[in-house]
Amino acid sequence: MVTAYKHEPFTDFNIEKNEQAYKDALSYVKGELGKEYPLIINGEYVTTAEKIVSINPSNTKETIGTVSKANETHAEQAMRAAQAAFKTWSKWDPAARANVLFRAAAIVRRRKHEFSAWMTYEIGKTRKEADADTAEGIDFLEYYARQMLELKPGVPINSRDTEFNQFHYIPLGPGVTISPWNLPFAIMAGTTVGPMVAGNTVMLKPASNTPIIAYKLMEVLIEAGMPNGVINYIPGSGSAIGDYLVDHPQTHWINFTGSKEVGTRIYERAAKIQPGQQHLKRTAIEMGGKDTIIVDNEADLDLAAESILHSAYGFSGQKCSACSRAVVHEDVYDEVLEKTRALAAEAVVGNPEHHNTFMGPVTDQAAYDKIMEYIEIGKKEARLVIGGDGDNSSGFFVQPTIFADADPDSRIMQEEIFGPVVAFSKAASFDELIDVANNTEYGLTGAVISNNRAHLEQAREDFHVGNLYFNRGCTAAIVGYQPFGGFKMSGTDAKAGGPGYLLHFMQPKTVSDQF
Ligand code: GLU
Repeated sequence: MVTAYKHEPFTDFNIEKNEQAYKDALSYVKGELGKEYPLIINGEYVTTAEKIVSINPSNTKETIGTVSKANETHAEQAMRAAQAAFKTWSKWDPAARANVLFRAAAIVRRRKHEFSAWMTYEIGKTRKEADADTAEGIDFLEYYARQMLELKPGVPINSRDTEFNQFHYIPLGPGVTISPWNLPFAIMAGTTVGPMVAGNTVMLKPASNTPIIAYKLMEVLIEAGMPNGVINYIPGSGSAIGDYLVDHPQTHWINFTGSKEVGTRIYERAAKIQPGQQHLKRTAIEMGGKDTIIVDNEADLDLAAESILHSAYGFSGQKCSACSRAVVHEDVYDEVLEKTRALAAEAVVGNPEHHNTFMGPVTDQAAYDKIMEYIEIGKKEARLVIGGDGDNSSGFFVQPTIFADADPDSRIMQEEIFGPVVAFSKAASFDELIDVANNTEYGLTGAVISNNRAHLEQAREDFHVGNLYFNRGCTAAIVGYQPFGGFKMSGTDAKAGGPGYLLHFMQPKTVSDQF
């Protein structure tokens, strides 16, 4: 019997022993920087001429590592390997597949701070954000392994005299995981091992900004006993191999997390039946958000300001769950705005290696440019209260930024910025707060700060988001506690870390046996 699932606890870095363990991990990883990493296809290490160079967004002169870059030929080899491995992996006892994940979780837990340190260097996560990312990755391994054990016997259905009926789940086939850089361990791991433990085989194309932390997962899974070809590691560009694999007639499913532009493109391409294709492709597509915290006039205003601060600026606002809109009742608007401004003014921006840094860099030059463009748009559309500055002389740093008095229909209230920018808007009643919260094409997360129970109940029904939170921030969903995924243009709502997740990558089969 496995133990009951419990999420991996976060590390308290105010305890000296923990702080020291993380610093030791930083020193260890520092000594590992600059190495070369091959592709992994069918368990073989393949070095290519073309490379992806992963750099430190806090210090662009520092190379984290150089990774081989897959082209179409490699993608095709990976597909062949995945097809061959599917024949045996899909027949493994689900409990044996789950065991690979349990073992992998134990290995990552032992190397926890090392994984976090890699993310501090590779994507600029502070120790708190990196630790949460590592913990969530461990959670996905533990949670999906248990889910497979639960699904193993299938679901009881009715049988009759002389007829035994059975209903159980089987995997789909080889598929593609295209993972994002913002939770480069957790989401990458979850969107890969979920389909894999269900009996599918995987072509993993990790984000080009964070290929090394993905390689680290491969190391762990191989150590844990994963057979060759079950997950094939093929970093590469979307145009060179992403489209190729999405279009491939032997691809059975695509598990994507990333931008709306890429997500909708994949959704459309996956729907097209290719010559020789004998099935419909499944897609799990998780895209963006334009997430709102609403603050009622009866509310704990300090809690409101803290929730906005952490949800808007955690990991520099680079979460699809991030709060980019604060919609506040007019009675308390000025006070909440001022309290949030005061907290933002104290937030330390800088090198994520330092204990006191609240916010590290944004991911790369393109992200920096996009955020700075939106700040210019914001200056025209609304009132800049704090921030607005950036510095890309050695890394990509943007100050926490607040705009006030934004029109609900303005671009900074409608378009995903994916940076540390939050726009405040005022409303005159709770109905209006909800209306403004719902007036975007997205529907991912939202939070309500209120002490009015009737209003919370109203929001429970009317605030149309996949993840709704009361009296807390709108980020930081925990696997198995807050299954995560959004409505509308936020995606297919596959609910990562939720009870039905593996079923997106499986098909139910009915067998009726006559005696
Ligand atoms: N699941 C994360 C959260 O609740 C966000 C995931 C994402 O940004 O892609 O904050």
